[in-house]
Amino acid sequence: MSLLKMGPTEEKGAHERGGVATSTRSGRQRFDRVSGAGLRGYVARLVNTINAQLRRALPGYCAFCLGPVRGDHPWCEGCLVEMPWNTSACWRCAEPLPSVAGGDRTLCGRCLKRPPAQVRSLAPWRYEGRMVRLVQRYKFGAEAWAGEVMIQLMVVALANAALRVDAVIGVPGHRERTRQQGFDHVAWLTRRLAGRLELPLIEARRRRETPSQRGLDRQHRRRNLRGAFALSQALPKRVMIIDDVMTTGATLDALARACLDAGAEEVVALAFARTPPGGI
Ligand SMILES: [Zn+2]
Ligand SMILES: [Zn+2]
Repeated sequence: MSLLKMGPTEEKGAHERGGVATSTRSGRQRFDRVSGAGLRGYVARLVNTINAQLRRALPGYCAFCLGPVRGDHPWCEGCLVEMPWNTSACWRCAEPLPSVAGGDRTLCGRCLKRPPAQVRSLAPWRYEGRMVRLVQRYKFGAEAWAGEVMIQLMVVALANAALRVDAVIGVPGHRERTRQQGFDHVAWLTRRLAGRLELPLIEARRRRETPSQRGLDRQHRRRNLRGAFALSQALPKRVMIIDDVMTTGATLDALARACLDAGAEEVVALAFARTPPGGI
């Protein structure tokens, strides 16, 4: 099935957790406690904050600079051009490279020696600047609107990448971390992306709760994740595995291996962004 397709961009409820109602409510609570000379300045600041949040939550304004946008996407042309595109990257692991003199399919030194299980990794943006802020608004601020912007950006990147896949699979979250954050952010992205691309969603699970990857080098991350994932069913030929941010690639590599064990013949990986080298 080809991915050269742009689905509808609107989804009921996607903007509803954008923070407007919450901010208005919390604003009113704070308003009750303010009085006297500072009131006028306080109200002006409050109105500005609410206006900014409204603009961010409503279509028609750029999610990055809050300027007006033309067309269906929540970003303006200027911001689209200035995004930290990861165009010069290893074909197999998406690590940013100084140049891809060998053409689109250039591999990094590491992949020449020991390639990951996926045949290709696509991470359209480097995890820098405004992309860090966007991901954090979604992941830690639980702003559904930021997640929606990420999905729309990934759909555009996929339309240009011409990948052929039969199903999508998200990296399953840690039970404890999901409980702390209140939602499984990769599962949320994957489910909506599958819907937008009209592809079946297949669930993977963690066979064991692996210790945090933080602070581990590449080799230890790999060891930490060996045999960590399992699939709930036999897989079709070509599957796409999905994560939000790819750091060393050890997680996606481990999930790709589990997919091959579950009958997939070819695995491609998609992450919204890739941490630049040395960014662990
Ligand atoms: Zn903009
Ligand atoms: Zn590579």
